[in-house]
Amino acid sequence: MQLIFMGPPGAGKGTQAQLLASLWNIPHISTGDILRASVVAKTALGQKAQSYMDAGDLVPDQLLMDLVQERMNQPDASAGWILDGFPRTVPQAAFFDQLLCDVPGAGPKSGKDCALRAVNLDVPDNVLVTRLLSRGRQDDNEQTIRHRLQVYREQTEPLIEFYRDRQQLVAVDGDRSMAEVTAELQQALSGDQICH
Ligand code: ADP
Repeated sequence: MQLIFMGPPGAGKGTQAQLLASLWNIPHISTGDILRASVVAKTALGQKAQSYMDAGDLVPDQLLMDLVQERMNQPDASAGWILDGFPRTVPQAAFFDQLLCDVPGAGPKSGKDCALRAVNLDVPDNVLVTRLLSRGRQDDNEQTIRHRLQVYREQTEPLIEFYRDRQQLVAVDGDRSMAEVTAELQQALSGDQICH
């Protein structure tokens, strides 16, 4: 099972990704969580990333590519994963494509059953702003939220077409209760196999 979770900030991808990952016993890899932990730990990566995150901008592609490459090479990532928050730009998606061809067991050779799926959770902007304001994370003030939504529409939304063209897209309406979204995701992805 190789899943990418896309969707605007506040779409619920983190919640759904975590839930399904524990259900399927595969790692939930959130680049946002990894970056926030790096900021708290004051690592070199955290120090480079913090100002971008606080401003609601994307952290430079190269930093994310290095981070994801390292994470994908960990032993627990060999049986599948849910990747939450990456790729977020077209260059990141192209890089990731290449990376999957290089990681043993993760590339096209692994066969149809472990095909990558890219899930998009769609939610209208007004609902997102309300959700994010009630979440209250450090980068969740109204101005930053609006900026993150704009960045999402400009830089990340094009990935929907990228994955649709490859017939890897699973589009789900995220403007429903958590349980309804989970049920639809389970159903939509139930044909996929855990891949060893
Ligand atoms: P959200 O809940 O807003 O979608 P995340 O927790 O996924 O946020 O990410 C928080 C912040 O981390 C982003 O606003 C961005 O600055 C940075 N970030 C996370 N993933 C990426 C990525 N793939 N590329 C660039 N920046 C990223």
